[in-house]
Amino acid sequence: MIFDTVIIGGGLAGMVCGIRLAEAGKRCAIVSQGQSAIHFSSGSFELLGRLPDGTAVSDPVEAMDRLREISPEHPYSVLGRQRCEQYAMQVPDLLRAADIPVSGDCRKNHFRITPMGKATPAWLTIRGYLTTEEPEQLPFGKACIINVDGFLDFYPEFIAEEFARHGVACSFGSVNLPDLEKIRKNPSEMRSTNIARVFDHEENLEVLAAKIRECRKECDALILPAIIGLNRNDSLEILKSKVDIPIYLLPTLPPSIPGIKAQQALQHRFRSLGGEYFLGDTVVSANMENGSVKEIFTVNHGNIPFRADNFVLATGSFFSKGLVATPDAIREPVFDADTVFVPERKNWYSMRFFDRHNYQSFGVRTDTELHVVKGDKAIGNLYCIGAGLAGFNPVHDGCGAGVSILSAMYVADRILKGE
Ligand SMILES: Cc1cc2nc3c(=O)[nH]c(=O)nc-3n(C[C@H](O)[C@H](O)[C@H](O)COP(=O)(O)OP(=O)(O)OC[C@H]3O[C@@H](n4cnc5c(N)ncnc54)[C@H](O)[C@@H]3O)c2cc1C
Repeated sequence: MIFDTVIIGGGLAGMVCGIRLAEAGKRCAIVSQGQSAIHFSSGSFELLGRLPDGTAVSDPVEAMDRLREISPEHPYSVLGRQRCEQYAMQVPDLLRAADIPVSGDCRKNHFRITPMGKATPAWLTIRGYLTTEEPEQLPFGKACIINVDGFLDFYPEFIAEEFARHGVACSFGSVNLPDLEKIRKNPSEMRSTNIARVFDHEENLEVLAAKIRECRKECDALILPAIIGLNRNDSLEILKSKVDIPIYLLPTLPPSIPGIKAQQALQHRFRSLGGEYFLGDTVVSANMENGSVKEIFTVNHGNIPFRADNFVLATGSFFSKGLVATPDAIREPVFDADTVFVPERKNWYSMRFFDRHNYQSFGVRTDTELHVVKGDKAIGNLYCIGAGLAGFNPVHDGCGAGVSILSAMYVADRILKGE
């Protein structure tokens, strides 16, 4: 099979890169082993929430100057502030074109509310989810937090405790209906996706609207877990049209409805532009010729090669097996590329769970143009993008989605310019 570009890995980075190339008319394939991190994500995209020294970031673009001083190996420092800003400005339109309606500004973080009720910095958030401009100030004074009876991936009491710190008084409401009884028979089936399938039916959505209307007394906002709209986009609007106070969604623990929807929407956008998406296939090896990648091989296609002018490694980090830890080294399994990590395993992590862990910054070694380096030599037609890159800590610095998206746009541009 012959393509202009083959992308290995269909997470946020791989899909954004594929969409940019397909938009420009390139024949592009994505080969992806399985679900990606976006499937589990919150419905918000982070650009830069904190500097590595712990300083809170309000304007992510402005903070990239300081980031460059303290972390020159960070992918944003490598790309440069100007380029990062230029790409970041284009992202809302890129996502909206894929039917992911987001709001936010790369020059000012807002705050999303986590499943535990905490405010955390975000760049873009999908419409309908609760956000606030100031972390201490919620857009209501009294809220009713509604849950589905027996749903264990959403914690109204914790959320109410957090909201109380910001002066918001909370009451609680609960919802039940006959179709939910069927899935409740097995408690492990009471997951957001199964509940959302119930509310995808118009008649059940009507019942939900009637039930939450009863909860609206003496409060100025209703809070619902993200358990609606799996296979339809109008669920929240329908509920809003039946209740005369604001309704906000909060993400739940995974599976994540906004994450799954975002993944499906990006996949759909890529395919509708003519891209070929090979889901459930794993790239296992590659042939090199004169220092370039000639072809790659996958589990499902056996000895049928995927050939292309350019290849993009978007296989993610440890979570997606794009990186693998052995007792004393970090490996990149497809190309056996050079990796960046600190020696001695005891330096890889901290015994304190919430501390910054070094292993989260490990990744594939690249040159300044994001070519993959193997045996100290950059491979001219192989790039690395996304969570597999070295030099940044997505958890501590709150920059996971930003690095994936901006590195993907940069590499797509390089490929398109034939650089
Ligand atoms: C659980 C979780 C939740 C997160 N939530 C958020 C959030 O809410 N907001 C935020 O800003 N950031 C979040 N992040 C940070 C996240 O890393 C980035 O946002 C981003 O989604 C990473 O995308 P990626 O495409 O680089 O990698 P991944 O999403 O990891 O995708 C890599 C893909 O490559 C595939 N793959 C791996 N090896 C092979 C192979 N050999 N052959 C073929 N395919 C292969 C995998 O199956 C996977 O589909 C979260 C991260 C995790 C782990």
